[in-house]
Amino acid sequence: MTFHSIGLADELLKAVEQTGYTTPTPVQQQAIPAAIAGADLLVSSHTGSGKTAAFMLPSLHRLIDRRPAPGAGPRVLVLTPTRELAQQVEKAAQTYGKALRWLNTACLVGGAPFFAQVKQLQRPVDVVVATPGRLLDHLNRRKLKLSDLEILILDEADRMLDMGFAEDIDAIVAATPAKRQTLLFSATLDGVVGNMAARMTRNPQRIEI
Ligand code: AMP
Repeated sequence: MTFHSIGLADELLKAVEQTGYTTPTPVQQQAIPAAIAGADLLVSSHTGSGKTAAFMLPSLHRLIDRRPAPGAGPRVLVLTPTRELAQQVEKAAQTYGKALRWLNTACLVGGAPFFAQVKQLQRPVDVVVATPGRLLDHLNRRKLKLSDLEILILDEADRMLDMGFAEDIDAIVAATPAKRQTLLFSATLDGVVGNMAARMTRNPQRIEI
């Protein structure tokens, strides 16, 4: 299988090629076509598996057809457990989305100045990458709306639950449209992660690598 046969848009194929990837990793081979088809996904995968591209490429693929409307909220939200991971994911969005010249991203993480982030949100932002606590702060202070969200991604969901973010995540999900697509990535899909997944996905496809 190649990135081309997976069905990604030419703009993304070019970026993938420039990044130097030749073959999709196993998680990418399974997750990208399913995500493009619109399915909710529960994916068990580890760092190093290529999971970031597995959710970012199909998300950017969805964004390509339409420019952000003035005043619209983000169409893609990625929640991550840590600031470092959020920064890496935002960088991946910019790398893979290089050919989408209009693409705006924002990284909303704790420990960084709040009002600099508010400033970032004053232009239309397509992709937001955030840690749950800080994202909820922006939501509660009405600096961000999630009513236009199309794809919600939970990256390292097990770690977010370990860190005590369950309630914050529930509050964030409650602010998103019910008809969104949800992609959940986690080292494990059992126990509390499975319970959370059952609450926030519809008829999900399970991918275990
Ligand atoms: P991740 O699991 O998302 O943290 O990615 C691990 C590393 O694999 C990152 O440095 C990516 O740039 C790299 N990577 C992702 N997809 C591929 C691929 N298809 N071929 C080669 N390297 C990749």
